[in-house]
Amino acid sequence: MAWYRGNQRPLPWRETGNPYHIWVSEVMLQQTQVNTVIGYYRKFLDRFPTVETLAAADQQVVLKCWEGLGYYARARNLHRAARIVADQQGGRVPEDYAIFRQLPGVGDYIAAAVLSIAFNQPFAVVDGNVKRVLARLMCIDTPVNTSGAKKVFQTLATTMLDTHRPETFNQAVMELGALVCKPNAPDCDACPLPADCQAFRSNTADTYPLRKKTAPTPTRRIAVGVVCRDDKLLITRRADDGLLGGLWEFPGGKVKTGEKTANACAREIREETGLVVEAYDLLAHVKHAYTHFKINMDVFVCRYVSGSVALNGPVGHRWITVDEIEQYPFPKANHKFIPILKNHLKSVHANTVK
Ligand code: SF4
Repeated sequence: MAWYRGNQRPLPWRETGNPYHIWVSEVMLQQTQVNTVIGYYRKFLDRFPTVETLAAADQQVVLKCWEGLGYYARARNLHRAARIVADQQGGRVPEDYAIFRQLPGVGDYIAAAVLSIAFNQPFAVVDGNVKRVLARLMCIDTPVNTSGAKKVFQTLATTMLDTHRPETFNQAVMELGALVCKPNAPDCDACPLPADCQAFRSNTADTYPLRKKTAPTPTRRIAVGVVCRDDKLLITRRADDGLLGGLWEFPGGKVKTGEKTANACAREIREETGLVVEAYDLLAHVKHAYTHFKINMDVFVCRYVSGSVALNGPVGHRWITVDEIEQYPFPKANHKFIPILKNHLKSVHANTVK
């Protein structure tokens, strides 16, 4: 904790005691790098400075504010939780573990982090940084990515917790993992704990934490179409549940084995929207990685041929101009080709005017 006091990074959520702001930061920090979170945190709290303002917001506005941060279930759950806290707790973040833990999106980590940091309650946090530090400190042979690991590391962290200063202790261990006891190259010379560290003493810091080998991440082939009709483009909205729930996208889907991507694009659009289109121009090839799979995506410009929209899968659709794209939250994989699309439409327009 002395090391932490002298070495902690000056992060915006460390300058506040506001439990809601700390909650927002912890939700954003799950699965996302600190440097990425800082800008989003400021923007989000400028827009929704209180539980009540978040609760009163439209979900699409919340998702637009979260756009690019990924793992959108976090935003949807935080929004739902804010509505419950506004309705049932007068807008005050519950200090009671059982009540707070029941809110949407609040798991063991978020509950322990928010209640310890905001209210100095004695709950030990366990995230990837904590697991790595503890695995090295005590040469723990349980692989960190197995189902049994959670209990092992939670028990250890709870045993070690300074119950008088849980707020400082939790942040100190996480900060040590982030700045010194790093995944690939632990900087043991800068560490305050080498005398107590079994991995350092046995020269095995590079061995820990142990990980069970997992199957390589699969790659999916995806075909997506920008359906143009007059000067409008078709976008569809994904259902709230599941990956990228609630976001807007250009329609498309998986390519079947042996299928040409242009045919897959037209087929998927027909199945999802009821429209017959012709995928005539390959606009872009996009690669993107999600947690459990990667995608190779071919994006086509499509000509509307016939039919009217009858959705099967998506829960909404709009015909928008290219300038209206910015009003809607899109997944990152769509943002990778949107600048190319804009240039393409600009050059088509310029040629038409000539
Ligand atoms: Fe990590 Fe090295 Fe410190 Fe041990 S001595 S906790 S391995 S940085």
